Amino acid sequence: MASHDATDPQRRVIIIGAGVAGSLAARRLAESGIQVTMLDPALPFPLDPERRGALYMKPAVDYNPETRLAHQAFLAAPEFYTRLQTEHPEIDFWSGTGTLSLAWNEREQQRQEKLLARNQWNPEFLEPVDSDRASLLSGLELGVPGLWFPGGGHIRVDALRQAALSHPLIRVITAVADGGRIQPDTDFWRLALPEGGTLEASTLVVATGAATNEWAPNLPLGRIRGQLTTLPATSAAPKVALAGAGYALPPFHGRVCVGATFDRDSGLGTPDAPSDRANIENLGHWLPALAGQLEENHDPGHWVGFRSTTPDHMPVAGHLNDRFVLAGLGGKGLMYAPLLAEHLTALISGSPSPLPADAAQRVSPLRFFKS
Ligand SMILES: Cc1cc2nc3c(=O)[nH]c(=O)nc-3n(C[C@H](O)[C@H](O)[C@H](O)COP(=O)(O)OP(=O)(O)OC[C@H]3O[C@@H](n4cnc5c(N)ncnc54)[C@H](O)[C@@H]3O)c2cc1C
Repeated sequence: MASHDATDPQRRVIIIGAGVAGSLAARRLAESGIQVTMLDPALPFPLDPERRGALYMKPAVDYNPETRLAHQAFLAAPEFYTRLQTEHPEIDFWSGTGTLSLAWNEREQQRQEKLLARNQWNPEFLEPVDSDRASLLSGLELGVPGLWFPGGGHIRVDALRQAALSHPLIRVITAVADGGRIQPDTDFWRLALPEGGTLEASTLVVATGAATNEWAPNLPLGRIRGQLTTLPATSAAPKVALAGAGYALPPFHGRVCVGATFDRDSGLGTPDAPSDRANIENLGHWLPALAGQLEENHDPGHWVGFRSTTPDHMPVAGHLNDRFVLAGLGGKGLMYAPLLAEHLTALISGSPSPLPADAAQRVSPLRFFKS
């Protein structure tokens, strides 16, 4: 284990935001012997069983830089989640069931055929399956083929955050970070502690998801509302994570999860019934075998959040002026967060990054400021 000096501000990082990205970054930094102080008003969070997500990806037909990064991230994620789950068996967050991406309409079928014709994929990463095998894997009568990602799965997001933050070098403070609480000094960032006194840290990481523009006002980030819906499971429930024009996740505590809406023009921070209806209606288009069962039910659960988005669809991880930024993970935070947490830790600690140099440039916040 790396030795550390708890009083040395050089080995201390403040992270604002204990979402998926901030929590995983905190974990990787702590694992490298760095003291982390984490601020989020929602800590210690009540675990919300409704907040769930899929580990999924949609490779482009041509192996472009975005797909290359997603491929690397998708390989790193199950390894990270399996290790973290093994270290915290008391917090059940990871189900490595695999993810099946359905060729649910003709267009998607043609896209998947092209993707297979133009690329060689290792079957441990991606394997085409016919409709019989897809039905066998999923436990549903699908009637369509698909792409099988054995490394995929589904995640209880709040439980993941809790497991990640359970490390002796991570301190969590339940507070909103603002300019009154955190200030730059000549050499260090100063954080006013709730019990009085200040803490000095060499590094500040902003990981505030869709609120990141408060701390990095010039970044061209967007925000898109999303709502997912959970419903009581019937006998026709998926056994693996399914992706199509949305996703459907196996039962947890007797409820399946379907999602999620993309509400570009809505700032509504609470769940609403039209979003639940939209999720179920959308499911009818791409997964009728499940939708037909669920429509009978009228007891929806839900979770609402805002995705942080970028104009080039690439996430943001790197140095910007006097701080580090980790944001813009869009609708794929569960895939990107483990790899980007590793990258950020490497940048901060001076160790080698897992990202090739061109990928590091593509995710750097500085890419938006080049002429
Ligand atoms: C409905 C929905 C479904 C989704 N489904 C999936 C899925 O299936 N798979 C997937 O990979 N991704 C999914 N996503 C996307 C995923 O949730 C995001 O990519 C991920 O949450 C991004 O993580 P983050 O840490 O950057 O942001 P967040 O998870 O949003 O976390 C940001 C944190 O910062 C805190 N914060 C903000 N401002 C401050 C401040 N001033 N001081 C202190 N703390 C602050 C907030 O309280 C929050 O905890 C979904 C998103 C939505 C909305």
